[in-house]
Parts: sequence; structure tokens; C-alpha cells
Amino acid sequence: MTAANPAKYFDAAAVREDFPILKQEVNGHPLVYLDNAATTQKPEAVIEAIANYYRHDNANVHRGAHALSDRATRTFEAARETVARFLNSPAPQQVIWVRGVTEAVNLVANSWGRSNLGPGDRVLLPYLEHHSDIVPWQMICAAVGAQVEPIPVLDSGDIDLDALDAMLDESVKMVALNHVSNAIGTINPVKEIIEKAHAVGAKVLVDGAQAVAHWPIDVQALGCDFYAFSGHKLFGPTGIGVLWGREELLDAMPPFLGGGEMIETVSFAGTTFNTLPFKFEAGTPNIAGVIGLGAAIQYLDGIDREAAAAHELALLDYTLELAAEIPAIRRIGEPRSAAGIFSFLLEGCHPSDLGMLLDQQGIAVRTGHHCAQPLMERYGVPGTARASYSIYNTREDVDALFAGIRKAQALFS
Ligand code: PLP
Repeated sequence: MTAANPAKYFDAAAVREDFPILKQEVNGHPLVYLDNAATTQKPEAVIEAIANYYRHDNANVHRGAHALSDRATRTFEAARETVARFLNSPAPQQVIWVRGVTEAVNLVANSWGRSNLGPGDRVLLPYLEHHSDIVPWQMICAAVGAQVEPIPVLDSGDIDLDALDAMLDESVKMVALNHVSNAIGTINPVKEIIEKAHAVGAKVLVDGAQAVAHWPIDVQALGCDFYAFSGHKLFGPTGIGVLWGREELLDAMPPFLGGGEMIETVSFAGTTFNTLPFKFEAGTPNIAGVIGLGAAIQYLDGIDREAAAAHELALLDYTLELAAEIPAIRRIGEPRSAAGIFSFLLEGCHPSDLGMLLDQQGIAVRTGHHCAQPLMERYGVPGTARASYSIYNTREDVDALFAGIRKAQALFS
């Protein structure tokens, strides 16, 4: 191991073996999957856990008086404990199953927002936000007469903390922000922002969609009020995610969706609600999804996460090195601290053409506005091409990306 070759700290090639999908060819080329910010691939262990549930334990949870339901319920609740440990939650009942970050933000906006926001109140969101952390707040603020206000972002792609200071006063009731920008990779100083927001009595929701796969999260150390993530960006299945909240806040919040499981008693005279976490989990949950997510976290337990994070950052450094050799490349955002996300434009080649040409060479990147239209507008671009790295990516993948970019450049010049 040498500092000169940080890739050696972490054996991405061995990790890659755990992901069967990566063994295929696309358009006659070995697949180079660089769209991890959109969704990550699934290790065999996750695929097996889901298949195993359907093969052996399939039953509804919390309801049946039979062995299968008992087994399914135990695995389902064990996964909640796994997530609680993963986030360093004080208690498992603070972990609420949702479909993903989108549903988590809608839950908080509709439940907490409806009971805590009113005319004159302000919700602050950085320009960096994903649409899923903008639109639910716009909808609830329109309904209750509160205001959504964008927090400016510097040219570097960092939140303008001075501007935030100037915006913060006691009319701010919520600051919602992503931990890492999916569009340009900014790692936001969430702990500092949480302290600033709390100083004026505001609550903070952190969207961890792009953070959880890259380093361990400790909700108690962060001091946030809500933390949300999606399982599919953490090597788990789609359709499952987590809303974590402070217990006293969750306890005081009304249910979001009504139906089975979330009640204590129902009568036409009135209904009483279940305790946490079930108050927020109406209907049959995504049982296989929960089990798959638990398996994904257990898989990550076997990975040296510090080394994996260093590996991903080394891939970004290598990317920036290769990009510097191509003057036609314009990187969008140069944040002080960035995750393994490279968002860029290639002069003379529309991002969607570039995406298509890369795909012809088996290279998967994302192109477009990345569900962050206000940020694209801030930079005056309609969209970008984005390569995003994960634990199974290698320097060879980065080489393939740049070979592909050079090929596209040759075609378009
Ligand atoms: N927030 C961020 C930063 C994201 O990158 C995404 C998905 O790309 C989301 C929220 C929405 O996640 P989901 O579609 O899983 O609800």
C-alpha cells in the first residue's frame, strides 16, 4: 500500500465480484457502471435475502398467528434494528419505513409541516436541493400560507453560509437540505448548519440519499431532527427507505397515511392511533424491501468503509486529473468538499448526445438536470453529464470514461 496509489488501500476489484450485474457486456463492451448516484447495484447477498424471503418465509407481518408470519415479522423487525444501529439511533422505533427520501420528505412536510407551519413562517432550502426536497415543501407552504426560500449557493457549489446567517431568524421553522448534492457532489457542512438553525429554534431535515452509501452516519452526533435515505442508493432494493426522527417530534406528529396497522382502535365514533413506528406505517409494508435493505447494511458491515470512502475520493481525484487534460471539459461546481460525483459539460457535445455515445461503449452515466432544476438554472445550464462512483468502481472505469469522452470529442469536433 502506498499513498501514491490510494486505490491499493481498497480492493474494489474483489468487491466487484459480489455484484453479478457488473459481469455483463453492454453494446459489445464490458459494462462500466458510473450512475451510482441514480441507483447502486445490488450484491448477491441482497438478491439472495429477497429470494430467500419469498422462497421460505413469505407472509404478512405483525398479523398472522402462524410460523411464516412469525418468521417474516422477526426478520422485518431485525432489519429495523439493523438500520437503527447503522444510523446510531437511540431506539429502533425512531426508524420509520417509507418508500424512499421522496416519501420521507412528503411525510414530514404533511405531518410536521401541517401542524407546525403557518402564515409568516419560512422554510429554507439550499439551491442544491433535489426536487423531492423542494416540491413537498412548496405544496405544504402553499396550503398553510408559509414561505419557501432558497439559500444561495456560491459559484463553487458550496452553500453560502453568510447568506444563510443573514436569512436565519425566528420566523424560520425548518431548514431542509441534502447531506451531499446528487447533482454536483457538494458535501454540505450539515452539523454546522444544524447548529445555526437550532440557534433560532428551527428544525432540520437532512436528506441523506447521497451520503449513506459513502460513509457512516451518526444522527446523534449530527444533531439533526430528521434524517432520510433511500435503500436503492445503498445497495438495497427500490421502493424502500427510511425516515429517522427525534422521538419527541415523531410522537407529537399526526399520522400521514391512514389505514391498517397504524391504528390502535377504530370505530365510527373515533379512531385512536398506534405507537411509533407503526403510527406512520399504514398498510402492508414492503416486507421484501425491508429485508433486502437489512441485508444491504449487513453486507456493508463487511466492508472497510473508511478505506472505501478514500477509494471513491481517489477515483474523483483521478477523474479531475484526466479532465484537466481536456480543455473542452467544464466541471460544474468545485465544492470545498466533494463526494465521488463528477458533473460536467463537454464543449460542442450536448450532454444527452454524450450519454448516448458513452452508452454505445458500455459506459453508463446520467445526463440531464438530475432533478435539480434550480441548481442548473443557478449555473445557467440546462443539464450536465454526471459520472458517480461507488465501492466497485476502479481506475480502469475512469480510464474507460475518458477514452469514451475523447471518442465523443473526436466525433463532434
Ligand atoms: N435526494 C437526493 C439527493 C437524491 O439524489 C434523490 C434521488 O436521486 C432523492 C432525494 C430522491 O430519492 P428517491 O427517488 O429514492 O425517493
